[in-house]
Parts: sequence; structure tokens; C-alpha cells
Amino acid sequence: MMKWGDDTSGRIAVAYVLVLACLFGLYLAFDLQRSRRDSLQRIETHATAALRWAEKGMDAMSVAMGQAAEAGAGACKGGSVAPQVLARLLNVPVGGITISSGDRPLCEWAAGEIAGTAVCGGDSGPAMLITRTQGNVSAEARIYPACMLAPFSLAIEDIQLRLMDLKPREPAAGPAPIVVIRSAHWPIKVEVTAQESWLFRRWVADLPLQVALFAVAALVLWFGPLAMLRRRLSVEGQVRAALRRGEFFLTYLPTVEINTGDWLGVEALMRWRHGRHGLLQPAAFIPWIERSPLIHETTSWVLHQAADDLARMNELHGELYVGINLPPTQLGDERVVDAALAAFGDDRLSLCRVMFELTEREAGDYASPVVQRVVARLRERGAQFALDDFGIGFSNLSSLHVLDVDFIKVDKTFIQELERRGSEPNVVDSIVLLAREFGVGIIAEGIETERQLDRIRRIGIRMAQGFLFFRPMELEATLAQLRLRAQ
Ligand code: C2E
Ligand code: MG
Ligand code: MG
Repeated sequence: MMKWGDDTSGRIAVAYVLVLACLFGLYLAFDLQRSRRDSLQRIETHATAALRWAEKGMDAMSVAMGQAAEAGAGACKGGSVAPQVLARLLNVPVGGITISSGDRPLCEWAAGEIAGTAVCGGDSGPAMLITRTQGNVSAEARIYPACMLAPFSLAIEDIQLRLMDLKPREPAAGPAPIVVIRSAHWPIKVEVTAQESWLFRRWVADLPLQVALFAVAALVLWFGPLAMLRRRLSVEGQVRAALRRGEFFLTYLPTVEINTGDWLGVEALMRWRHGRHGLLQPAAFIPWIERSPLIHETTSWVLHQAADDLARMNELHGELYVGINLPPTQLGDERVVDAALAAFGDDRLSLCRVMFELTEREAGDYASPVVQRVVARLRERGAQFALDDFGIGFSNLSSLHVLDVDFIKVDKTFIQELERRGSEPNVVDSIVLLAREFGVGIIAEGIETERQLDRIRRIGIRMAQGFLFFRPMELEATLAQLRLRAQ
């Protein structure tokens, strides 16, 4: 069987790669959006948690300042417990606490003096004041929002998370914030800035895995479910091109009357002069074509070519019939009648020199109304029918009965068997009996030796084909033979 890897396969592969590239491109565009959305969502969640953390610290600090203001001067005695406890619990970076009565400071703690407070080093940013007043005593804490987010800033690398008050400022240099979350209770907000490239880099980091998965899926599809389709497209593409370029041609195999040697007809057998693979025999392509929709175009072409060639042969002979091989599935398609009439003419006996040979590689449903109608229409114009390769494939007795065929062509395997078995009982004897019973003619296929010829003659078969007589010949050689015989 020929390998169908050629131009068409190449074109299919290129088309597949292009389609995949487009699909993958689209997928990547969507995935980039998705990855950006996901990242922003994660950052937003993180920033919201940071804001809650800061709010909680400020709420607690506000309560502590309220307690300190209430304690008044007492809060200064021996140091206030409240801010220290608070500082231990929440680790709020306190810059200092001052308790005053009116304008007069009662006591003050600097940052380092409050046990347990976070030390806010480096860029602690502007301070925020949390002040609570009771009577004329006020307690005021200075805190550094920028330092409150230390635990969160570490959680996401490469991006900056800043807690800021809402005072209007000059826009900071660098990228605009990608997320801003404002507090509902305090005049603070969390701003997240990140280079756009950070979002992109995150996406790129996942890319190798995605490419690998996509490539595996593409390969599985290519060698799995698409393999059959590819082969079919490849064959179909090539058959279409062959029809267009005229690469098909017919050879003719005569059917002879074995006693006189007269020619009764010729069987049209396709050949393909393939651009790349050279001369192809039907076994390499007919089974494919028969399973594809192109069988209609192919048989149409055979019918037209055979009609032209038969006209030339019958200028020399006068009465030859032409055998056209037809898969039974085509009898379920009325277009075959139109094609036959277009090729051989539309008059009443236009098909009387045509014998359709039903090659049963696939099972045919001869009882179906369409098949019956097609057969009736072809018969009306004089066409005859033969069951080809009888005894092998799907050809069976019910076909004989339902189709009311005119001839049985005994497959060459039985003819060879005949020679091997000598005078023992054999299948051909039975087929002959059966054919007589049904009133059907017999043609023996594949006669290669005098012994085989002798055997079929004794069995009573009169019509035969085979290499002993002729091999399939191109039209010119067939015409030359006919000219010889006409002399
Ligand atoms: P088939 O219709 O049974 O044709 C007879 C096949 O047997 C031909 O093979 C022929 O060359 C070969 N043959 C004839 N005498 C001998 C012999 O003495 N010895 C041996 N070994 N072989 C012999 P080919 O041309 O290769 O065709 C094979 C099959 O392809 C045909 O079998 C037919 O079923 C199919 N085919 C050929 N042309 C067409 C076509 O136009 N349409 C369709 N649907 N099928 C076709
Ligand atoms: Mg045949
Ligand atoms: Mg045959």
C-alpha cells in the first residue's frame, strides 16, 4: 500500500501548525489577561488585609489613648501600662506618646522607651497623630503608618505596599499605583505599586509549562484522532489533483470466449500515473477512494473515459461491451445514473454495452428502495450487472437473488484452487451449478495457465479473463490488438 506522505500531507501539516499557532496566540492573549486579573486580585486581597491590620492597630491605639486621657495625670505615674501592653500585643510602631493638660505636657515617652514597640527604622515616612481628649487632658500617640506594613511588604516580593494618610501630596515618582484601598474609618489608604513588567514576568514564569502542555495536546491530536482524517484529506486532495491533472488512465482487460478466442468485452481498470510515486495499481488507491465521497467523481471520470474509448474500439469490432467496476455503495446514489447517461447517451439502449461489476469490498444493501430504483433505471437503458470476485468479500447468495444479476465473476483464488485440487470436488463446480439454477452467466477471472483453462472448459465455463489471454492494456495497445484481429 502506498504511503500518502507527500505535498498534500505537507500542506495539511503546515495548515495544522498555522491553525495551532493562531489558537495558541489567542489562548496566550486571553491567558495574559487572566494572569493579570488574578495577580491584581491577589494583590488586592493582600492590600486589604494590610489595611485591616493597620486599622486594627490604630483602633487599639485610639482606645489606649482614651484610657490614658481618662487617667489624666495618673497615667504619668510610673509609666502607663496601656501603651506598653498595646505595643506588645500589636507591635504597633509608636514614635512617641505625650500626655498633656491643656498646653502643658505632663509626661512624654520617646519611641525607645515604650517596651515592646516595634522599632521603625529607615524610611519611616511621615508620622500620624492619634489624639484622645478627656476634660482638659489629652493623650497623643505618634505612629508611623509606613512601618505598620512591614509583615505584609515581605509577603509579596518585587512590589511595594505603602500605607499612607490621605493628605494631598505631589505624585510620587515611579509607576502609578496598580491598587489603592482606602480605609472607611481612618484617613489612611494602602497603595500598591509595581512595574507593569512584574505582572508580565509572573505570567512568563508559567509559560514553559503551558507551551509543553499545548505541544503534547497538539501531538496527541495529530497522531491520534486526526491521523485518520489527515490520511483521508491527503488521499482526497491527491485524487482531486489527479483528476484535475489527468493522472488517471484506463487499461482494458479483454473477456474472451475460450473456445473461439473471440473478444466479448473489455473491463476498464484504473491506473494512476502519480507525480511522485510513479505508476500505481488500483490496490494502492481504490479502497481509499471507494470509502471517500470522491468515488462519485472518480466513477464519473471512468464512465466518460470508457465511453470515449469504447466508441473507438467498436469502430474496429462493433460489439464489445465495457465492464465498469462499481462499489455497491454507489448504487445508493442516483447520481451514478446521471453520470452513466451523461457518458453513454440518454437514449433507450444507451447502456446496452455497459456491464457494471459490483466489487463488494464493503457490504451493499441491495434491498433498499434507492438501490432498487437506481438498478431499475440503469437496466431500463440496457445495462447489465455482474457480481465481481464472487465468493470472497461480501458477495453472497442473497445479492444474487435480490439484484437479479446477469453474470457472476468467479474470483481468481478459486481458479487457482481448481488447479491445485485436480479432479477433487471444488467450489467452482458448486458456483456453476448455482449460476445455472439462477440462470446467470459465468466469467472466470485470472486464468493464467493452460491447465486452468482446460479445467474451466471441462466444467462448462465459456467466458474468461486472465493473463493467459491478455494482461490489462492501455487504449492504444487494445486498439492495436483489435486491428490485428480485424485483418
Ligand atoms: P477486478 O475488477 O476483479 O479486476 C481484475 C483484477 O485482476 C485486475 O487487477 C486484473 O489486472 C487482475 N487480473 C486479471 N487477470 C489476472 C491473472 O490472470 N492473474 C492475476 N494475478 N491477476 C489478474 P487490477 O487492475 O489491479 O484491479 C484490481 C481491482 O481494483 C479490480 O478487481 C477492481 O475491483 C478494482 N478496480 C480497478 N479499476 C477500478 C475502477 O475504475 N473503479 C473501481 N471502483 N474499482 C476498480
Ligand atoms: Mg472487475
Ligand atoms: Mg474480479
